[in-house]
Amino acid sequence: MLKIKFVSMKIFQVFIKFALIFLLSLFTSFSSDRPIVILVSLDGFRWDYLERGVSPYLTEIALKGVKAKSLKPQFPSMTFPNHYSIITGLYPEHHGIIANNFHNPFNKDSFSLKKPNVENAYWYRGEAFWETAKRNNIKTASYFWPGSEMNLEYRRPDYYHSYEHTLDYETRVKGVLDWLKLPDSLNPRFISLYFDETDSKAHRFGTNSKELNQGISRVDSMIRMLDSGLISLKIQDKVNLIVISDHGMTDIFEHTAINIKKILDSDTNNVSIVNHSSLGWIFLKDKSKVNEIYSKLNMNKSRYRVFKKQDFPKRFNYGNHPFIGDIVIVPEIGWHITDGRKWDGKYVATHGFDNEEIDMHGIFLARGPSFKTNYNVGTLNNLDIYPLLCKIFGISHGSKIDGDLDRIIHILKE
Ligand SMILES: [Zn+2]
Repeated sequence: MLKIKFVSMKIFQVFIKFALIFLLSLFTSFSSDRPIVILVSLDGFRWDYLERGVSPYLTEIALKGVKAKSLKPQFPSMTFPNHYSIITGLYPEHHGIIANNFHNPFNKDSFSLKKPNVENAYWYRGEAFWETAKRNNIKTASYFWPGSEMNLEYRRPDYYHSYEHTLDYETRVKGVLDWLKLPDSLNPRFISLYFDETDSKAHRFGTNSKELNQGISRVDSMIRMLDSGLISLKIQDKVNLIVISDHGMTDIFEHTAINIKKILDSDTNNVSIVNHSSLGWIFLKDKSKVNEIYSKLNMNKSRYRVFKKQDFPKRFNYGNHPFIGDIVIVPEIGWHITDGRKWDGKYVATHGFDNEEIDMHGIFLARGPSFKTNYNVGTLNNLDIYPLLCKIFGISHGSKIDGDLDRIIHILKE
C-alpha cells in the first residue's frame, strides 16, 4: 500500500516537472514572439528637413517602410505637451501638460522641466504607454522621454534614465542596445529614445543654418548606429523602428516681435502675463475686467488672435484646462511675444504656434515587421501613435483616449 502510494507520488512529481517545463517553454516562446518597438524622437525635426539631402539613413528607412507627409502635433506645438500626447493618446487639455512651464493658479504650484517638478506625478494625467504595457506584463524602457521619470513606479518604464541634456548620443544608443541584450525574461519590448539636437540647433542658429544641417546629419548617423547594432544582434528584422518628431520650427526676427505690455499700456498693472513666446496667457487680477481688457487687446491687435478662455475655438482642444490664462493670445506664425527687452539674436527660431500650420508639423517614419513597406501616406496625427502601439502589442488601452486607431491602422501590414 505504502509502495503504491510512493510510486504514484513519484509519477505525480514527474508529471508536475514536465508540466512546468512545458508551461515555461510556452511562456518563453510567447515572450520571444512578442513584438519589439523602438520609438525615437528627434526634437523639432520639421516635416520637410528630410528633403534637404543631409539625412540619407532616414531616407533609407522611409523607402523600406512607412513615410508620412508630416506628423501633426497638438496645440500648443511644444515639446512636453506633444511628447506626452504621443505616449498617452490624449490632448494636452486632457493629459494636463499644457506647456513646458506653467503653474496651478489656485495654489501657485509650478510645473517646469527642472527637477523635482518634472518628476511630480501630480501634473501628469492619463495613462502613458509604459503603464498600459506594465498592466499587460510587457517590459518597457526609456532613454529619455518627457514623463518617463515620474516619481510613481507603476506609472513609469521598468528601466529609465533621468534626463541629462549633455549626455553624449552614442551612450544613449549603446544603452538601448544593451537593454536588448538582456535575457528574454528581462528585456524590454518597448523602448523610447530622445535627441534634442535638431531643436537646439534651429533655436540658436535658425532653420536655414549650416549648424542645423549638421545637426540633422548627426541624428541621422545616430539612427544608423542604432540600426547597425540591431544588425549585429541579429534582430533588425524583428524590430519595429518608429522615428518621429514632436513639432516643427519657424524662424523669428527682431521685427516680428509683439510687445503686449505696450498694447495693454496702463492695464499691464492689472494683469499678469505668462509669455511662452509663441503663445501668451493673460491672468486678470480682477476677473470682472475681462471684457474691458479683451476689447483693448482685440481692438489693437496686429499679427495675433486673441480669445477669452471660454471662447477659445474648439478645434484647438485647449480652452477647457483650468490652468490656462483668462485671455489667450495666439501669434501668427513667425511672430513672437516679447516683454520689450532688447533682441539679442540668440533665439532665432521657435515653435508652439497653431498646429494647423504645416511648419509646426514633424515627421513620422516606421519600418519593421508590423509595417507596410515602401508606403507613403499623407499627414498623420500624433495622438494616434498610442493606439497604434497598443494594436502592435495586441493590448487594449484602459481609459478613454483622444487618439483614433482607425485613422492610422492602414499603415500596418494586414
Ligand atoms: Zn524647442
